[in-house]
Amino acid sequence: MLKRLYKIFKPADPAGPLIIPEREHQISERDISKNAARIVEQLKKAGFDAYLVGGCVRDLLLDGHPKDFDVATDATPEEVKKIFRSARIIGRRFRIVHVRFGREITEVTTFRGHPGKTKPGADHTKSDKGMLLRDNVYGDIRSDALRRDFTVNALYYAPDNGAILDYAGGLEDLQKRQLRIIGDPNARYKEDPVRMLRAVRFAAKLGFSLTPETEAPIREHAEYMADIPPARRFEEVLKLFTSGYATAVLKQLEEYGLLTYLFPGAAACLQAGDTFSERLIYAMVTNTDKRIRSQKRVTPAFIYAAMLWPPLQNKIHTLMTEHKLNHHEAMQQAASGVVGEQLAYTAIPKRFLIPMREMWALQQRLARREGRRAYQTLEHPRFRAAYDFVLLREEAGEKLDGLGLWWTRFQDVDEDERETMIANLPQQKRPRRRRRKSGPATPSDNA
Ligand code: ATP
Ligand code: MG
Repeated sequence: MLKRLYKIFKPADPAGPLIIPEREHQISERDISKNAARIVEQLKKAGFDAYLVGGCVRDLLLDGHPKDFDVATDATPEEVKKIFRSARIIGRRFRIVHVRFGREITEVTTFRGHPGKTKPGADHTKSDKGMLLRDNVYGDIRSDALRRDFTVNALYYAPDNGAILDYAGGLEDLQKRQLRIIGDPNARYKEDPVRMLRAVRFAAKLGFSLTPETEAPIREHAEYMADIPPARRFEEVLKLFTSGYATAVLKQLEEYGLLTYLFPGAAACLQAGDTFSERLIYAMVTNTDKRIRSQKRVTPAFIYAAMLWPPLQNKIHTLMTEHKLNHHEAMQQAASGVVGEQLAYTAIPKRFLIPMREMWALQQRLARREGRRAYQTLEHPRFRAAYDFVLLREEAGEKLDGLGLWWTRFQDVDEDERETMIANLPQQKRPRRRRRKSGPATPSDNA
């Protein structure tokens, strides 16, 4: 953190930044990615201005370990590309350069101009509602700072002399552990509604509060989220749920009315006070947070399987009671229906969608264990995730006749014991031969 913030005096130029020299803060060269520092150095050698910026400076000051290091410069993407052989220009809405050294990719962005002060014809487009569709107008470091989202995300660090530059009051907010949106909150949320999700994520992750003017418009403007394309909403869902603070994030998403724009079915169940859904979803985020903390892998397929499970069950119930489908048919139809509806809110890439549906289908198969079935299910590539999901359902209070425990043992014991376990299974009613429009399934089907 900072050693003596209050010793820092205002600059002579009121538009200039607060400058905190190296001796006044605790960022040490050792904590900085060699590659990012090298990129800054090479840009400077080529005559450009360059800094580390954003989350990495924030996290370094908080004694955290930045996930990645971002660089801001006055060089245009084309100029950056000329300097680094491994550079690739990406993005349309917001053009940036990826510079790769070994496995590390550093994002290099060109200082953005002030969106309000652009000339006609500049590459800067807003929708009818004021949402920023493209933002490729370049400017200087000050305008770049002011178009960033929160003050604590707008700090610049110069690796060459160790100084920190603060144009937006970020150091004071960092000291007070608060998130403050830069500029007029209404306009900034309108310009990019994802900033509301970012506010929730950073508050949870950093343990910061939102200043009143940052917080107040969120409930009112949550509906702006409807204009964000599903693909971008999916990206944000991943960041929110794999932040390591998904439990706090979820509470806040509910609280601010944002969850409806990410998972409308789950949001409706939670709003209706459905305690099973609440326990299931919160058990999932608690588990996810634990896994992230112990550096275990989490898959979006599992997160989605749980978030969509409550609406899936409601649909299955309707199809079985009102349309008289059997459980298997109802499950198939309901799964397609729920996925179809979800895709209007967040994308679900196939690599997650398929495993998620397999996990759902396996919920039924895990209950059928007689003969060779248990062995076959055990071999299924999605067995582990599906078994974890059974445990989650039980944790949330679903009565599955000790199914989770049975499978826990079955994985542990030897061949003879497995045979005994199968032989000792309670006699399952044979599923009735399928007739057209057969009645509701037996309770053992009820996965
Ligand atoms: P994380 O720890 O999640 O990487 P971060 O602050 O680095 O946090 P990024 O998404 O990597 O977040 O973005 C880098 C920087 O770009 C931010 O710190 C912020 O200054 C700016 N930024 C990112 N997204 C937005 C946005 N939607 N609006 C304004 N500024 C943004
Ligand atoms: Mg970052």
